[in-house]
Amino acid sequence: MDVTANPLTPRRTTRQISVGSVKVGGDAPISVQSMTTTKTADVEGTLQQIYALTAAGADIVRCTCNEQAAAEGLAQIVPRSPVPIVADIHFHVEMALAALEAGVHGLRLNPGNLRKPEEIKLVAREAKDRGVPIRIGVNAGSLHPDIYEKFGGATPEALVESARIELAYFQEVDFSDVKISVKASSVALMIAAYRLASETFDHPLHLGVTEAGPLPGGLIKGTAGIATLLSEGIGDTLRYSLTADPVEEARAGRQLLESLGLRERKGLDLIACPSCGRSEVDVIKIANEAQAALSELQIPIQVAVMGCVVNGPGEARHADLGIAAGKKRGHLFIQGQIIRVVPEDEMVEALVAEAKKIAEEGVAARLAKRDLGAEAEAEADRAQLLDAKGADANNAGERIELIRKRTQN
Ligand code: SF4
Repeated sequence: MDVTANPLTPRRTTRQISVGSVKVGGDAPISVQSMTTTKTADVEGTLQQIYALTAAGADIVRCTCNEQAAAEGLAQIVPRSPVPIVADIHFHVEMALAALEAGVHGLRLNPGNLRKPEEIKLVAREAKDRGVPIRIGVNAGSLHPDIYEKFGGATPEALVESARIELAYFQEVDFSDVKISVKASSVALMIAAYRLASETFDHPLHLGVTEAGPLPGGLIKGTAGIATLLSEGIGDTLRYSLTADPVEEARAGRQLLESLGLRERKGLDLIACPSCGRSEVDVIKIANEAQAALSELQIPIQVAVMGCVVNGPGEARHADLGIAAGKKRGHLFIQGQIIRVVPEDEMVEALVAEAKKIAEEGVAARLAKRDLGAEAEAEADRAQLLDAKGADANNAGERIELIRKRTQN
């Protein structure tokens, strides 16, 4: 099997819209969104969070617009934000209009709580005049009561019907600059609703498992729902909804897309063995230290931390850079080739220094500068460890002979 081939279902074709400078849908890269948790009226605090979210991988950030002071805050935030800003609107049509006056790049309306057709059409007309897109943000927990009753609950059909009705209001005023979400806190419901939405609409879809909760459960639920749909070619933009620092949402979104090969790697990809009885160091501690130190470098590099020199370099030979522990020393390797042997307490330091040099000089140049005696030194460590711990601790050869004798009769 060609493991480099992309096994995902080709992405479903959708219309393309622009949220400020970020294109969503069509052949645009799948974008990552998150939402601020500050009071939007706190302009400096909100901007600080927006910068942190952007650094963690967010392409678009949403802020609540729930009061006049929030709308006034948005007027100051929008021109200073490094990424497009979407205003989140619930209940109050005047807040949608105020957010448009503030110059936001997009609106999110909840059809479950902004219900009057005339108000919905008014917002759509104003958004159209300004070239601002709207997300129809259906949420299973706040579904329009009439639809809830008609479908006997928040079913996939009910969620999609809510979006369809809102879209019909928009069409009456000739507004189609729309993306759609049909979120639920139940992963199964959310998957079914998005599958149906993707068959029903050709508008871009914004994926999310809503109210997924704190880490790590929230991450697991979000990933289960979002990754399943992405693997089916469904989804144009996404948000993890975590009860955590929103930086975790942006980071998770970006990492998910990178791990599925849907976005280019921007930062560190740390792989580490789970450790086992062969481990020569505290792999968890070293991996955490390496992750903290290497993340700060913001280098697109894959780094491996492996617990033993017997299997480590071979198992992680695809990594750009790695270190494996053995006999109180660390074997530093690039793409599986040992380049240096360092003392155990300098393993993280050596990894960071080498990562910087790879970023500056490239892999080939660093391999050319490797310590020529390192491979032999490493081989000696490996051989001694194999002797000490045994390559075949279970005496498999002897046992197989015995098994064969037993089964021959
Ligand atoms: S690399 Fe070594 S320590 Fe880590 S899991 Fe594999 S055999 Fe165990």
